[in-house]
Amino acid sequence: MRYISTRGQAPALSFEEVVLTGMASDGGLYVPEEIPRLSHDELTAMAGLSYAEIAFRVMKPFVNGEIDDDTFRRLVRDAYATFSHDAVVPLNQLDANHFLLELFHGPTLAFKDVALQLLGRILDHFLAKRGERAVIMGATSGDTGSAAIEGCRHCDNLDIFILHPHNRVSEVQRRQMTTVLADNVFNIAIEGNFDDAQAMVKASFANQDFLNGTRLVAVNSINWARIMAQVVYYVAAAVALGAPHREVSFCVPSANFGNVFAGYMAYRMGLPVKQFIIATNANDILHRTLADNDFSKRDLVATLAPSMDIVVSSNFERLLFEAYERDGDAVRVLLERFQQEPAALAEAPLAKLREMFASHSVDDATILEVIREARHRTQEILDPHTATGYRAAERARADAAVPMITLATAHPAKFAEAVVKAGFPGVPLPPHMDDLLEREERYTVLAAELLAVQRFVAENRR
Ligand SMILES: *Cc1c(COP(=O)(O)O)cnc(C)c1O
Repeated sequence: MRYISTRGQAPALSFEEVVLTGMASDGGLYVPEEIPRLSHDELTAMAGLSYAEIAFRVMKPFVNGEIDDDTFRRLVRDAYATFSHDAVVPLNQLDANHFLLELFHGPTLAFKDVALQLLGRILDHFLAKRGERAVIMGATSGDTGSAAIEGCRHCDNLDIFILHPHNRVSEVQRRQMTTVLADNVFNIAIEGNFDDAQAMVKASFANQDFLNGTRLVAVNSINWARIMAQVVYYVAAAVALGAPHREVSFCVPSANFGNVFAGYMAYRMGLPVKQFIIATNANDILHRTLADNDFSKRDLVATLAPSMDIVVSSNFERLLFEAYERDGDAVRVLLERFQQEPAALAEAPLAKLREMFASHSVDDATILEVIREARHRTQEILDPHTATGYRAAERARADAAVPMITLATAHPAKFAEAVVKAGFPGVPLPPHMDDLLEREERYTVLAAELLAVQRFVAENRR
């Protein structure tokens, strides 16, 4: 198994190289050269297995023997032992045929833990094998930073530097990052906004001389290993509800499209899926593209579901590559136009996407209404991201007889502000986090100056 770029010009890479590389040199994203198949018998045999064992079997063909089976099993087991629920990602039945797939039982209470707990371990394994060290740099507006830190805190060969805008993230979000007191974890509070922080990270990737040859690694959602890890829970959930003998549908609160693209991979591997519904907040580029063929950027809107606030949906390129029959030139032309001006998909690829995907966009007022409505009908308090999914699942569902699985991407305690706005007294943090507000914090405040940040990274990496 090799990995190829969606823009057709970068060299093909091995699994190890693709995990360490991030974006392809032609500006594209890496995807597997062939999509492995899960046979009917292999899916049938997964019934009743642990999540870690299903994960091992689903991901094995992507890893391509580059990590031996025993080691990979151990990495997977360790990654999912950090989750507080024995099922790792339990299904919660809401009504006759609508289920929540709870992806928020990891260390930071959001679904990104599923991928980042494993990615940190895979990176550390490859670096140890190569006798190398690497530095991770990332900017966060609050949410992903903590999942990346938790994923790397035990890694011997990685140092992680996460920049957040000083005094502009919520206390819970800041503390989820700054109370991790590991020797390889560095939180930098930038005296500026999120865009300042992100610009400095981008500039550091563009010119890495300040690290004197040490590799800089990105753990954002364009890293193939993150997609790979997310394929697993689609398979596990469908098998729990009777696959391969029975179809299911999925509804996915979406932003950069990494999550729902992983579901599409599971479908292409052979999982019987009837429909994918893409839920968006007011930042609705995915919905506009599917519904109106309006593939264009709009200004960012700050919503009650902030982890879905995006202008461009980076992983959508991976789906376009499939819709355009893996024609890298066509994808490159389309995305280059999209960067400059409003674009549109060609007729055939759009028709192909509409066979499997529906979409629905949910504004802030509706998010609050849905949180109240879902509580009334099901007793559940939904987080604002999951609320977009709940509504989209009901509105865009093609067949009520097929079980609908809505992905619950965050724990409501993580986004208590929206829950309070909806009229509830708030949501307590789960027991293993209830002392978060008393724990010791560690972070460094730096001016929004590239050289100051790079000097800090260069001096503190181990
Ligand atoms: C990141 C995130 C999303 C969006 O996921 P994508 O893979 O970017 O589509 C949705 N909900 C929550 C809570 C998130 O953290």
